[in-house]
Amino acid sequence: MKNLITSALIYANGEVHLGHLVEYIQTDIFTRANNLIGNKSIYLSADDTHGTPIQIKAESLKITPEELIKKAYNDHVETLKKFNINFATYHSTNSEENREIAYMIYENLKNNGYIYTKEVEITYCEHCKRFLPDRYVKGICPRCNAPDQYGDNCEHCNATYEPIDLIEPYCIICGNKPILKKSEQIFFKLSAFSDKLKDYIQKITSPKDSYRNYLINWINEGLKDWEISRDAPYFGFLIPGTKDKYFYVWYDAPIGYIGTTKKYCDDNNLNWKDFWIDGKADIYHFIGKDIIYHHFLFWPAILMGAGFSLQKKIKRNFYYCKRLFKNKYWTWLFKNLLCKLTFIFNKWFQLFRLWFY
Ligand SMILES: [Zn+2]
Ligand SMILES: [Zn+2]
Repeated sequence: MKNLITSALIYANGEVHLGHLVEYIQTDIFTRANNLIGNKSIYLSADDTHGTPIQIKAESLKITPEELIKKAYNDHVETLKKFNINFATYHSTNSEENREIAYMIYENLKNNGYIYTKEVEITYCEHCKRFLPDRYVKGICPRCNAPDQYGDNCEHCNATYEPIDLIEPYCIICGNKPILKKSEQIFFKLSAFSDKLKDYIQKITSPKDSYRNYLINWINEGLKDWEISRDAPYFGFLIPGTKDKYFYVWYDAPIGYIGTTKKYCDDNNLNWKDFWIDGKADIYHFIGKDIIYHHFLFWPAILMGAGFSLQKKIKRNFYYCKRLFKNKYWTWLFKNLLCKLTFIFNKWFQLFRLWFY
């Protein structure tokens, strides 16, 4: 196998939208083109299924998170099939394969000295009697002052931060102001990778890439260690050795690339370690601009720390039109029109193939 190619995983709290389609069709074309010129390639992707947005949506629909992600999975697979996107495997991060790899990476990171625990203050709602991680709390962005931003990141300026950094925070369930409560959390020593990440970014990006300096600046400003645990109740994988702590969704989401590779390999009598530990294939990630931080910093640092192979190339897409993506009518129109065109094109392509071969 020459290439292992992935698209950013689709989050299970909504439908496939225009942005996904643009990225998935691009990735599919890239994979098919590679296969046509003899570079044997596989295209893998999965649903990203954990975290507070899933919990909140499931609670609002009065169903379990498992029911919600199952429904989303069926819907995503059906939509992507209509566009003739040719996956080797389309899987889910809420799978046994993903749990196994997430635990293995955690053990490796721990053994290599990159995991530590620290007592921190966390937003807690006295009225709801629960911790308020990530999306359970909203407030003003500490970086750009945009109102009504979630506790994990700002949709306006893309900054990532902790819920306690929000200005004028409030609980999204009851609207009350949360208090700060002490809790022991697990951290990944991201700061230990500053120099290695700088070398890596310089190697895989070109000076022409606009985001190169952006990333280097981030590192120069000083990388903060990354909190990878969340207190119960949380929808995700329980952290080994704890009773009530779960992996933060952004820890096990990219591991979904490896979990999906394992699923593909198990089904095809191959070994996933050939791809992710022994580096026998080139790894390509197609991603959107909004997740650069995670894919160029967190993800490679986790892989380096656990002794895994690094991705060779990260292909970044642009937002084609952010507002258009969010408009249901345009998404519906685009999906339906493009779906018909794909169907017609595919028929013509098959005719051409008959003609030439
Ligand atoms: Zn902001
Ligand atoms: Zn509350």
